[in-house]
Formats: sequence, structure tokens, C-alpha cells
Amino acid sequence: MRILLVLALLATLPGCGAMADDDSGKVEVATGFYPLAYVAERVGGSLVDVENLTQPGAEPHDLELTVQETVTIARADVVVYEKGFQPAVDAGVEQGTEGVALDAATVVDLRPVAGQPDETDPHFWHDPLRLAKLADAVADELGRADPGHRATYRANARDLAADLAALDRQFATGLARCARQTVVTSHDAFGYLAKYGLAVEPITGLSPDAEPTPADLARLQDLIREQGITTVFSERLVSPKLADTLAGDLGIRSAVLDPIEGLSDASADEDYVSLMRANLTALEQANGCR
Ligand SMILES: [Zn+2]
Repeated sequence: MRILLVLALLATLPGCGAMADDDSGKVEVATGFYPLAYVAERVGGSLVDVENLTQPGAEPHDLELTVQETVTIARADVVVYEKGFQPAVDAGVEQGTEGVALDAATVVDLRPVAGQPDETDPHFWHDPLRLAKLADAVADELGRADPGHRATYRANARDLAADLAALDRQFATGLARCARQTVVTSHDAFGYLAKYGLAVEPITGLSPDAEPTPADLARLQDLIREQGITTVFSERLVSPKLADTLAGDLGIRSAVLDPIEGLSDASADEDYVSLMRANLTALEQANGCR
């Protein structure tokens, strides 16, 4: 019994060679949250093992890491994260990794937050073309870690870029002619939809745990009445209470718009592309798009 306990403890500590995947010959990739994991899985295919640090159902903004997950970062060949989005992952990367750390924020052109030019919006994956940029950079890093398969990583990134370009065209076409342009959402995760002509009015700030003031809510109610907005959007990984209350008070619908920051039980069979398509359908309905 005592020996088993020691073995279990050793397996959680760095420097013990305890991770079984080390012997698989695959490139070990650690990712901060779901869209980054999706890119790593598509570009790496069967040549990589992707460990996503945000567990299904968890909200990634306020992620905390277990000791084992800190070890995962330390041992990874490639860490894909977005600096500033998950402070715990930033701290894990700062403690050091044997491999390379690829910061999505250095690869993708992040947009400033409306009205706050010094703050950048981290939710870039709502623009499929920006996500394709990240796929290129992931292919480069995987090719450096595993030069024998460089051509495969490049080809996989090209396939993903084609899917993402098609998705971008679907959004552009689907949202080209809408009765309304304003979208009321739960937290401010959808600013990148501005490229398709939408104006996003979030109930809370860039992070889901920011609290709106009564004045914020009164202003939103006025806006919803003035513009004839039909729907208040909530999201999967945080409580829909605020959105439901706002919608209920005004007698309009509430519906889900997924920030795609992580999967949950309800979306376990989905992937990034299918969730983006579901979002598009929900936006078309809410905004009267033809
Ligand atoms: Zn967010």
C-alpha cells in the first residue's frame, strides 16, 4: 500500500519519466483552451497527442492548473496558448517548458475593444480567417519539433484553412442582408463578428464574471426596445440567469450563442466548425437575415 502511494505521488512530479505518452513517438502538444486544441488536432492529426488544459464544461477565463497540468506544460514539445487570456497558463509557461511555447496573440492580429483602444479582444476564433493564421503557425512549430513530417503538417494546415475560408464565406453570405445588426450577448466574446456587419452589445465585459451595473442594464433595455431586438443570447459554460432575466423582463426570447471557449456535455459531439454553423443559424434567426 505504501509503495503504491509513493508511485502515485511520483507520477505527479516532474522529472520522473512517468508520462506514458513520452514513449509513443508522438509530438506532445499542450493547449490552453478548446479552439487552440481543435487547431492542434487538425494540423497534427495522428502524429500528435493534444492535451487540452481546460477540461470539458469548465470556463477557460478563470482556469486554475493542477500540479499534473503544470507538468504537462513543462514536458510538452509545443504549448499553444494565448497570453493574457488565461493567467494560470501564462504562469505555467513562465515556469518553463522543455519545448516551445507558441503565443497565439503574437501570430494573430487581435482587434482593439470598441471604445478601449488599449485593450485587445482575445476572442479571435470567431473570425475563421484569423484562426487559419494560427493553423499556419502551429504547422511551422510542429514541423520544427518533428521535421520528418513537415509536409504533412503543412498539408493539414492547408486543408483546415480551406474549411475555415468556406466558413468565413458562409458567415459573410448569411449575415449580408439582415433586418437588424445589433446582437445582445452574455459576455463580450463576439466582437470579431463586426467583420460581418454585426454590432455586439454585451451584458457583461470581456470576462464572464464581470458584473453589469443597473445603468448598463437600463441602457440595454432601451436599446433592445428601440431597435426591436428579438433575442438575448446566453452561453453554455456560464449561468444564463442575466440573459434570461433581461429577456423575460422585455418579453423577448433568450437563445444560446456559443463563445466556443470550451466544449461541455451538451456540445461533446460538436466541433469548432459545427458550433460556428449553429451560431450562424441562431444569428440569422435573431436578426431577420435572408
Ligand atoms: Zn470569453
